[in-house]
Amino acid sequence: MIEMKSPEEIGRMAVTGQFVGELLAELHDVADVGVNLMDLEHHARRRIKERGAESSYWDYAPSFGKGPFRNVLCLSVNDAVLHGLPRDYALGDGDLLSVDMAVAIDGWVADSAFSVVVGTPDPADLRLIEATEVALEAGIAAARPGDKLGDVSAAIGEVAHRYGYGVSVEFGGHGLGRTMHEAPHVPNNGRPGRGMRLEPGLTIAIEPWFCATTDKIRFDDDGWTIRSADGSRTAHSEHTVAITPTGPQVLTRRPTRAARPDHHEKPAVNS
Ligand code: MG
Ligand code: MG
Repeated sequence: MIEMKSPEEIGRMAVTGQFVGELLAELHDVADVGVNLMDLEHHARRRIKERGAESSYWDYAPSFGKGPFRNVLCLSVNDAVLHGLPRDYALGDGDLLSVDMAVAIDGWVADSAFSVVVGTPDPADLRLIEATEVALEAGIAAARPGDKLGDVSAAIGEVAHRYGYGVSVEFGGHGLGRTMHEAPHVPNNGRPGRGMRLEPGLTIAIEPWFCATTDKIRFDDDGWTIRSADGSRTAHSEHTVAITPTGPQVLTRRPTRAARPDHHEKPAVNS
């Protein structure tokens, strides 16, 4: 069943989305060469606790993972693309990091992710990240009331193909609201004009992820981390989006650096 949200409920999801955007922006600033993944995890745990938010990941035990998950972030490095387990690892020069987070505030969930290269970037990695970001914006732009879910999927897939990347339709976007994963599934490729009609009140996470040279994945022995099958690099971009009568509303935009308080410019991460 798909639960449609009232404008008031979308407003409550937007409150959560604002916090998720702010915290991801902080983590984007903190991520750097030499920073340990557990520093990012502990920074996020502290901020989530301070805000009175609840991690949607903690204790999550889905069929696709070796649950329960006991972290608040998914941190996926290089060939890892989804569900990366935070671990004792210091980021190296040129590492490609994907950060994914979902929390609830007062029972309403928002979910968002970004990828970034720390240190000296390989242009090929920046292009891969750009492709997921362009695909995300294309998917959002296609999420108009009256259009079909397949239009969103097709818009994402079209960008992947234009950039020359393959697409897996496993682990795409999803409905969300009172819980993190709800119907409908939002595949990262599809046919325009197909699928359910997008109505005002539908809230979905749109999340393109691509691997540089394969559309196949493999599961790491840790029971969670999903990697490209061929070891090539990967990237992932995600926003929570509400369909409104006037068009898509992105609930998890990250604030620009200028719009953020100074004390979040470069937070201390040693805990
Ligand atoms: Mg996510
Ligand atoms: Mg998601």
